[in-house]
Amino acid sequence: MIYRTLGRSGLEVGAIALGCEGFAGKTSGEAREMMDFAIGNGINFIDIYSSDPDLRTALGDSLRGRRSSFVIQGHLCSVWKNGQYERSRDLAETKAAFDDLLRRLGTDYVDVGMIHYIDAVDDFHAVFDGEILAYAKELRAQGRIRSVGISSHNPVVARMAVESGAVDVLMFSVNPCYDMQPPDEDVEMLWAEERYAKALHNFNAEREALYELCERENVGIDVMKVYAGGDLLKADQSPFGRAFTPVQALNYALTRPAVAAVMAGCRSVSEIECALAWCTASEEEKDYSRVLSGLEKFTWSGHCMYCGHCAPCPAGIRVADVNKYLNLARARREIPETVREHYKLLARHASDCLHCGQCEKRCPFHVPIRKEMKAASGLFGF
Ligand code: SF4
Ligand code: SF4
Repeated sequence: MIYRTLGRSGLEVGAIALGCEGFAGKTSGEAREMMDFAIGNGINFIDIYSSDPDLRTALGDSLRGRRSSFVIQGHLCSVWKNGQYERSRDLAETKAAFDDLLRRLGTDYVDVGMIHYIDAVDDFHAVFDGEILAYAKELRAQGRIRSVGISSHNPVVARMAVESGAVDVLMFSVNPCYDMQPPDEDVEMLWAEERYAKALHNFNAEREALYELCERENVGIDVMKVYAGGDLLKADQSPFGRAFTPVQALNYALTRPAVAAVMAGCRSVSEIECALAWCTASEEEKDYSRVLSGLEKFTWSGHCMYCGHCAPCPAGIRVADVNKYLNLARARREIPETVREHYKLLARHASDCLHCGQCEKRCPFHVPIRKEMKAASGLFGF
C-alpha cells in the first residue's frame, strides 16, 4: 500500500480506500471476509455514508479489535427512513443518526465527520450558516469527530466550503469525464447524454481551480465515482468509446492535485484486488494518456494532464510534478510557501532541463514542455 497524508487532517491513509456501497446486502460474514482481505493488504480507510443499520453493524463487527488502526470517514446528515437512506438537514435526525453510527460501529469517534453531500448554493448556506456546521464543530471539540469534511459534486460549492476555512477534507467526484463538465447543482447532469453530444475540450476551469485551491490550502481530497459507476470501464458505455482499466482510472484521480485517496466501491474480494493492483502497477500500466489521446470529439491540448507519458527525462526531471507546481504557483500573485517547499523537495528542478525536446515528442497532449521548464525555473528561481 502507498500511504498519503489526507491534507491538514494529518491522517495517514492508504491511497486505495473503500467506499461502502459495495458492502450493501452482504452478510456479516461476507463483510468480514472483504474487510479481512482489505486490511491484510494495507487498506486502512473507509467511507461510510450509508445509514443502512445492518451494513453499519456488519462493518462494526468486522472492525472490532482493530478500530484504532483504521481511519473511518462517517457521514453526518445521512439518515435511515422507511427502509432507505436519505439526506437530512434536520439537526435532531442528524444527531440521532450519528449516535447510532458510533454505536453500531462500536467506537466513540470517527476520524472524518463528512457532511453529506452539498451540491446547491442555497443548501451550502443553510448548512454553513446554520446548525449543521455548528454541530460538526461541536463534535470536533468533543473529540467525537477528528476533522470536518463535506462531500460534493459541484466545484462551485466545494470551493465555497474550502474558502470558508471550516473543512479539512473534501470528498469529490473525480474522473476524466466529469472533469470536462461545467459546474451544476444537479448531479444527474454530470452523466447526461446531451452533455457529451458535442465536442469537449480540456478540463473545466472551475474543477481544475478547485483541485489547485485544495492543494494550496492543504485540504485533502478523497475521491468518489472514480469509475463513474463502472461506465468508464466499458468501451460501449464510456463517452470516450474506450475502456479504462481500473488502474488507469484510479491513477487519473490519484494524479490530480490534493487527491490523497480513492474510495473505490468494491463489491467483492476480487474487485478490491483489482483496485489494489494500482499499488504495484508499472508506469506503463498506470498511463491513462493511452485512453485519452487521439480522440476526435474529446481533446486535451497544451495543458499538462500529469499523466507521466513523457518520462523518462535524461536530466531526471519529473515533468508532471514540475508542471503541477508551476500551475499551482501561476494561479497566485505570490508563490504560496507550501508550493515553493514542495517544489524545492523535488530531486531535479526545471533549471536542470537540457532542452533536448525528447519529452515533447512523447507528450500526447502537445504541452510545450521546454517552455514550461523555462517558466518554472524563472518563477521558482531554480
Ligand atoms: S507534459 Fe504531457 S506527457 Fe508529460 S505529464 Fe504532462 S501531459 Fe503527460
Ligand atoms: S526537454 Fe528538458 S524536461 Fe524534456 S526530456 Fe529534455 S531535459 Fe527533460
